[in-house]
Amino acid sequence: MSSLRQTDVLVIGAGVLGASLAYWLSVTSGCKVTLVDQEDGVARHASSRNTGIVHRPFYLDPDTKRVFAASARLSYPLWRGLAERHGLPWSQNGTVEVALRDSGVGTLEKYVAWAARNGVDESELELLDGREVRSLEPEVECRSGLHVRTDASVDFGAFTACIGSLAFRNGVSFLGRCKVASVRQKAGSTEVLFSRGSAAEGARCSLLVNAAGGGALDIAHALGLARKYSMLNFRGDYWAVSEAFGPRIRRNVYSLPRHPRFPFLDPHFVVRPDGRRQIGPTAVMVAGPYAYAGLGLLSAPSFLSAPLGPKLGLLSDPEFASMVLDEWRSALSKRAMCARVRRFIPGLGASLLVSRGISGVRSSLVGPGGLVPEALVFHGESSIHVLNYNSPGATGAPSYAARLVADLRDSGMLKGLEGAPGARQGSVWGDLDAAAAA
Ligand SMILES: Cc1cc2nc3c(=O)[nH]c(=O)nc-3n(C[C@H](O)[C@H](O)[C@H](O)COP(=O)(O)OP(=O)(O)OC[C@H]3O[C@@H](n4cnc5c(N)ncnc54)[C@H](O)[C@@H]3O)c2cc1C
Repeated sequence: MSSLRQTDVLVIGAGVLGASLAYWLSVTSGCKVTLVDQEDGVARHASSRNTGIVHRPFYLDPDTKRVFAASARLSYPLWRGLAERHGLPWSQNGTVEVALRDSGVGTLEKYVAWAARNGVDESELELLDGREVRSLEPEVECRSGLHVRTDASVDFGAFTACIGSLAFRNGVSFLGRCKVASVRQKAGSTEVLFSRGSAAEGARCSLLVNAAGGGALDIAHALGLARKYSMLNFRGDYWAVSEAFGPRIRRNVYSLPRHPRFPFLDPHFVVRPDGRRQIGPTAVMVAGPYAYAGLGLLSAPSFLSAPLGPKLGLLSDPEFASMVLDEWRSALSKRAMCARVRRFIPGLGASLLVSRGISGVRSSLVGPGGLVPEALVFHGESSIHVLNYNSPGATGAPSYAARLVADLRDSGMLKGLEGAPGARQGSVWGDLDAAAAA
């Protein structure tokens, strides 16, 4: 097929992960890199539709979330450095994680131990009783709280745009409005065809890097990978808090998750970097990765895509089914949503939630063991696929992407594609190996 563009590395997905991968590839190798997205710009989906917190990894189990925890720790100074250098918002307002009952106090103590194992300095944290939390945040009621001073509020959409533009300056090409519709492996290369209506017809690459978020599993399946996994999509809705009440709370306030078996946080109170206050997100099960309103039944068929077994297994779990119902209730009723946050901010009446905010969708991988806790990487003959790259994925992207690029280099997958010695100099994120040290 003559109209296929030739490129060394094709990165699918211009979210925070794909843009970070393209950036690291551009500073560590001289190969020709093309970043492709179905949208006409970067960060149009999860990467700009999120809570916007650069998380310290105090709440991540160092055994089951080891990679996310290490990526979050290593990425924190990289994001802060990028914000300083490029004048992007970085609001280090901190977070208070609250326990509402005595039973939660042990969980906060466990978080302190996890924080130490995940490399969070003890000066960043403070365990408080309910009275001490109240003197910090007079509107918050709880039994106990963990004050994390260093969590920062940012705009990950702006961060992604910044790192993407640095990659483009380094020679990465961007193909927008190109939805990857089919992929096939040829001897030593991969051919990708875009859906009709795309600006270009397709591309042939020596290495395919699939960072397509909610679209990543379909692409992996097309190459015969990750066949035992399917995807469920959960929408996070937010509500804007009235300016008359919001500024009375200065920090992000999270409550301990009520369903720690599942990788969702309960709705929290969020301080955005521009000072707006919001509550959210929910985790409403929807039919597709771009179902930002309603059920999304018309927007995508992924709800019914194979394999169905893992999804049915999960839906027959009574705790999961009850959580799904609760979340739908919160999506349909402002009062129900508000009630969840009033448990720890009693003064927040439903009338103070003045408008709906953005919504974002988390695409979660479901396997034979249920919801998968961390990102998974699958290797094809000349392709790699990142699946389930969920929260705190935006926080960890610089380091996580560096690790992937270092692995590609070390495993020889970039061999023969590298040129331009000395291209490493001048990286805004410093040295690849230091960023990848997870
Ligand atoms: C509600 C919510 C709150 C969150 N809060 C936080 C937070 O506070 N802190 C944090 O660290 N993380 C948070 N996260 C997680 C974080 O946002 C994600 O981990 C991260 O944005 C994922 O980035 P990504 O690049 O993998 O995906 P995306 O940003 O979704 O990018 C994937 C890209 O692939 C493109 N694509 C998909 N299919 C195709 C195709 N077939 N052809 C071409 N292009 C395609 C899409 O258009 C998209 O641009 C949150 C997520 C959600 C949903």
